[in-house]
Amino acid sequence: MQDIAKPEEEKPTRSLNFIEEIIEEDIRNGVNESRVHTRFPPEPNGYLHIGHAKSICLNFGLGKKYHGKTNLRFDDTNPVKEDVEYVDSIMEDVKWLGFDWEDRLFFASDYFEQLYEYAVILIRKGSAYVCDMTAEEISETRGTPTRAGKESPFRSRSVEENLDLFARMRAGEFPDGTRVLRARIDMGSPNMHMRDPVLYRILHAHHHRTGSQWCIYPMYDFAHGQSDSIEKITHSICTLEFEVHRPLYEWFIREIGIYAPRQIEFARLNVTYTVMSKRKLLELVRDGNVKGWDDPRMPTICGLRRRGFTPESIRNFAETIGVAKRDNVIDVSLLEFCIREDLNKRANRLMAVLNPVRVIIDNYPDDLVEEMESVSNPEDESKGKRRMPFSKNLLIEREDFMEDPPNKFFRLAPGREVRLKAAYIIRCESVVKDPETGEITEIHCTYDPLTKSGMPESNRKVKGTLHWVSEKQAVKAEIRLYDRLFTKENPDDLEEGRTYKDYLNPDSLKTITGFIEPAVGSAGILDKFQFERTGYFSVDHDSTSENLVFNRVVPLKDSWAKVEKVK
Ligand code: ATP
Ligand code: MG
Repeated sequence: MQDIAKPEEEKPTRSLNFIEEIIEEDIRNGVNESRVHTRFPPEPNGYLHIGHAKSICLNFGLGKKYHGKTNLRFDDTNPVKEDVEYVDSIMEDVKWLGFDWEDRLFFASDYFEQLYEYAVILIRKGSAYVCDMTAEEISETRGTPTRAGKESPFRSRSVEENLDLFARMRAGEFPDGTRVLRARIDMGSPNMHMRDPVLYRILHAHHHRTGSQWCIYPMYDFAHGQSDSIEKITHSICTLEFEVHRPLYEWFIREIGIYAPRQIEFARLNVTYTVMSKRKLLELVRDGNVKGWDDPRMPTICGLRRRGFTPESIRNFAETIGVAKRDNVIDVSLLEFCIREDLNKRANRLMAVLNPVRVIIDNYPDDLVEEMESVSNPEDESKGKRRMPFSKNLLIEREDFMEDPPNKFFRLAPGREVRLKAAYIIRCESVVKDPETGEITEIHCTYDPLTKSGMPESNRKVKGTLHWVSEKQAVKAEIRLYDRLFTKENPDDLEEGRTYKDYLNPDSLKTITGFIEPAVGSAGILDKFQFERTGYFSVDHDSTSENLVFNRVVPLKDSWAKVEKVK
């Protein structure tokens, strides 16, 4: 948790990304006394997702790398869509990712009075006016990118009348939607954002922080850049869609005459097999397609956390994908690679059988239980060893047995030998089937006592090594296997007449019962393990000491495949 990404130390050879190049040049030139001050500016209208994580890692990472500061600021200008629930979750997620805004937690709503005064400055200069047109009329007269808009009949109102009307808008004299304050820029500008954009609207709505103190609210565009200015942000890093807003932000700063941050745009992160729009994520939650914002199938930070992702893996993912100037889509398998790499180092190993079939060792003493020993994590000796009971009745994976195997099947089959990991070499002698279904119910084997793990004979060459559990001592657990939420690589790339929901994967969650070696003990919520040969698993919030519940974080590429491939 505490070891926040340290780009200088961890990746000494990585070349600078284009944002770092700009910042280093500004530092060299003494711009802003060579200060670096960034911010992460979420709107509290939803939960954060992996795309936001990219932005958080970037902003906080730059603050740290250049010994600067990073603010957390909520751009809370839309009381209708915002909520404290989102504020709280966002703070929790940023902290969990390992970042610290120290005493720099801000809200755009803290600046409402200041923003109001900025608007008054614009009115006084003749650069803003109160317009009585309806939202529809404003939108109809905006024109198109190739056709100029039409000037509002209220554009030439006197400064006095504008000041009076704006003050009365604030005082609550007018109903919602009857008037707005607009910037007086250029209805013929090729940039639509410069065509007299709305700065303030009347909205008699309760705000999660200012309550009913205000009945006019600044538009996001009028609040965002000025908030950066108030906080003396040096580098306002935002996503590409704001490139076209930049001339407007610069116009505000210039007209008001305040400190100018430098805006730098980078490409949004997109990930395959998921959607990243807050609106769509909210729909999935509201329509019950997932169980909540923290459903482990969601690309939200809380969903990834619940699934068993670590902050380190997400930070490493953000660092690995780098910063792009053009929109792109990152393969979700890269994220999966990052969590595998991290959990490989930190997760203890356990044997768990997820689709069991019974193995009976006919020549093993009926009541004997031996303690077998295996390392907890081959990547980390300090984790020590664990012990697991071995007995006559075992469970193995059904897929690890074939009655009539093809040549390359190196697992258990009639007459063949396999090694049971950390135990003995066994040979299959016969099978028992259910007379009705034909399904195999028991695999009868013999074991060779001289092949006990650690004894010289145990090195005998056999082609397969299987995981197993002793049936009597195994701990039952509910296991949730997740697959991709969507079946299409880009669910937003719609075919005619379809919506992104048509590509939801009906098999994205499969719940099964698994049998785990007793060393699993009373694993606590979010404890993570590698179930050998199967994958990485993390204890879910729903887990209790009576009913263990695991989420599969990510399947494992069979790490013992090497052994099995030997001819
Ligand atoms: P909205 O449509 O509600 O504005 P948003 O995803 O842009 O949605 P914000 O709360 O405005 O949400 O985002 C906070 C910050 O995170 C912004 O600076 C935004 O540019 C950045 N951000 C959002 N989505 C991504 C993404 N997919 N990749 C990288 N950065 C992102
Ligand atoms: Mg946004």
